[in-house]
Amino acid sequence: MRKLYIAGNWKMNITPSQAVEYAKKLKDSDIDKNVKVMIAPSFVCLPDVCRALNNTGIIVAAQNVNNNQKGAFTGEVSCEMLKDLGINDVIIGHSERRQYYCESDELINEKVKIALDNNMDVILCIGETLEQRENGELKSVLKKQVYTGLKDVSDSDIFKITLAYEPVWAIGTGKTATPEDAQEAHSYIRYLINSLYGEKVSEKIIIQYGGSVKPENAKQLMACPDIDGALVGGASLKIDQFLSIINVNK
Ligand code: PEP
Repeated sequence: MRKLYIAGNWKMNITPSQAVEYAKKLKDSDIDKNVKVMIAPSFVCLPDVCRALNNTGIIVAAQNVNNNQKGAFTGEVSCEMLKDLGINDVIIGHSERRQYYCESDELINEKVKIALDNNMDVILCIGETLEQRENGELKSVLKKQVYTGLKDVSDSDIFKITLAYEPVWAIGTGKTATPEDAQEAHSYIRYLINSLYGEKVSEKIIIQYGGSVKPENAKQLMACPDIDGALVGGASLKIDQFLSIINVNK
């Protein structure tokens, strides 16, 4: 039985003082014990949010990390810096990083490997654009993203990876994939993991859905057999909405 994993990606929203207020409210909220919960504030909010959520079981993650251990990379943040704050989780390969910062599958693979080398857990984001879907390229895009993103990731490290299927056309647009479309993609991703790591791993790996998840559609999406959680953008900015998604089965 896979545990539901709900993660909130705040992107470039919420200031440090607002973040602490949010974290305190989240800490005092009624949260379904059967759900793994994570929030990913911006880098500047991480120290205060970590302190506010210390010992709560709520995971605080980074939205990105550099692919080098250290050095002359102005404006970048390393795994070592995150670990020093007590952060063990990072989102890698978000479509906005791919689209606006030209992150390739190869670079994303380097980031995945350096995070694993630093003993961090990773949410690896994948998903097709509308054009790719309309051109019938869904499966080939997902295959390349999974195979390249996970290149040289060992059988022992694969459990440190969560996959997030996020069709780019559904992110921040208000358009959600139908549960049938999302299930079809998730089932294919699980098949790809089976082909790389075998059935036991493919049955255990967590695959989140992301793309305009809201309290109104979360229940239907989370009921799909291969959807094990959500990576939530916009709706995670409002704590009441995020809590409704977390407590979807309560
Ligand atoms: C995201 O950024 O990962 C995301 C899914 O955003 P939204 O929920 O706003 O579509």
